[in-house]
Amino acid sequence: MPATTKPQIWFLTGSQGLYGPETLDQVSSQSQEIARLLAKSDDIEAEIVWKPTLTDSAAIKRVALDANSDDDCIGVIAWMHTFSPAKMWISGLDALRKPLLHLHTQANVALPWSEIDMDFMNLNQAAHGDREFGYIQTRLGVARKTVAGHASDPQVTARVGAWSRAATGAAALRTLRLARFGDNMRDVAVTEGDKVEAELRFGVSVNTYGVNDLVEVVDAVEESAIDSLVAEYARVYRVAPSLLPDGDQHESLRYAARIEIGLRTFLEDGGFNAFTSNFEDLGGLRQLPGLAVQRLMADGYGFGGEGDWKTSAMVFALKAIAGSRPGGTSFMEDYTYHLGPGEQKILGAHMLEVCPSIAGGTPSCEIHPLGIGGREDPVRLVFSAASGPAVILGIADMGDRFRLVVNAVDVVQPDEEMPKLPVAHAVWKPRPSLPTSTESWLAAGGPHHTVLSTAIGVEELTDFAEMLGTELLLIDEDTTTRGFAKEIKWNQAYYRLAQGF
Ligand code: MN
Repeated sequence: MPATTKPQIWFLTGSQGLYGPETLDQVSSQSQEIARLLAKSDDIEAEIVWKPTLTDSAAIKRVALDANSDDDCIGVIAWMHTFSPAKMWISGLDALRKPLLHLHTQANVALPWSEIDMDFMNLNQAAHGDREFGYIQTRLGVARKTVAGHASDPQVTARVGAWSRAATGAAALRTLRLARFGDNMRDVAVTEGDKVEAELRFGVSVNTYGVNDLVEVVDAVEESAIDSLVAEYARVYRVAPSLLPDGDQHESLRYAARIEIGLRTFLEDGGFNAFTSNFEDLGGLRQLPGLAVQRLMADGYGFGGEGDWKTSAMVFALKAIAGSRPGGTSFMEDYTYHLGPGEQKILGAHMLEVCPSIAGGTPSCEIHPLGIGGREDPVRLVFSAASGPAVILGIADMGDRFRLVVNAVDVVQPDEEMPKLPVAHAVWKPRPSLPTSTESWLAAGGPHHTVLSTAIGVEELTDFAEMLGTELLLIDEDTTTRGFAKEIKWNQAYYRLAQGF
């Protein structure tokens, strides 16, 4: 994956010239202090860049246009320290194309009850300055997140942090190039989609390559490169004895390594950070790529099986949102249910391609027959996902728009060992319950391919959807099927009206 510069979030402070230089100096030093409080919080990984206090419409428009054109700037935080007459924000807000967070805060935590005078009142008036700003944002229909509270409050920095991570993901998605090897699986509906709309809405460029373009690169891989990668596998995983150098299936492991090096080379040379494969269209590949896909996902690449480019793009985006947080993010598929006895659960997996970033222990590297695709037995990593709260996100093309469906879940351990299951898997309890979750997911038209992440939460995904201007339907502990059905109908009306003609 290419190294990127540290993303920036610009901190803008609104005021007006009427207060005079002495007050504006205080506004400036207090807003720098707020920016410092945000910058030193571990919740916010992006760099906070303080900008001089804004007091007129020309300066506001200038900073909005500069934010738009600066590749390092992933979003803008605005705070009205004092009263900033909002007509001067109209042109700037109208021009702004970067994600916006309205921070409703103030310099002081406690009100100085016994000392307060009119000077203090005139200096610290975000309570009404931010209301003026809220009005103009709502009047203009500006998408934003509003966070209220003092910048030293961990709940405030956590929410700003979630937004900043979502902005990192949105920025990464905006420049994503995705390579599809072959088309999507024949006759499947939900993996179809409008690639032109996806490039306009998300920025992702999706293009198809013949799988034999990849095979050419795979076949050209040097034996010496395969030697060292096979040695790495033996260091990092528990490799099945038959795959080791003196085992009778060692050649299969070497071919899996050949695929990994070839695929990585193809993606790096083309500047691609996400891809898809299709077991119906393997061209000259002798194995369905399993181990290679798993390891590329672990390095941050997006992936979708059966040509599912929409899910692949979302795997990449959610990995970018997660950044270096603990936990993992993987391509996933709802496979089969445990409907009792005891708590109801979902078993998720895929033919091979589950990311080891979600693994609960050291994955084992194994080879088993694959009854589909008609190729040689593929090598794969096998593991069970680590327990913990997680989110599951699916994306569907509704014809006139994309819809994101999210379920808050808890990954748990399987009730029993599954020694005969030859693929990596995750077991989870969907919130609020399996029937309500699945009835709602089906009513929403959510897909069977998803992204599972134990590294991020619902708040990041809500902010992410807002930044993309894309519908998000959330299924969590507060969901009822009746309420959810109404939300789907209301959204249908809203999103069609919001599009205009
Ligand atoms: Mn699938």
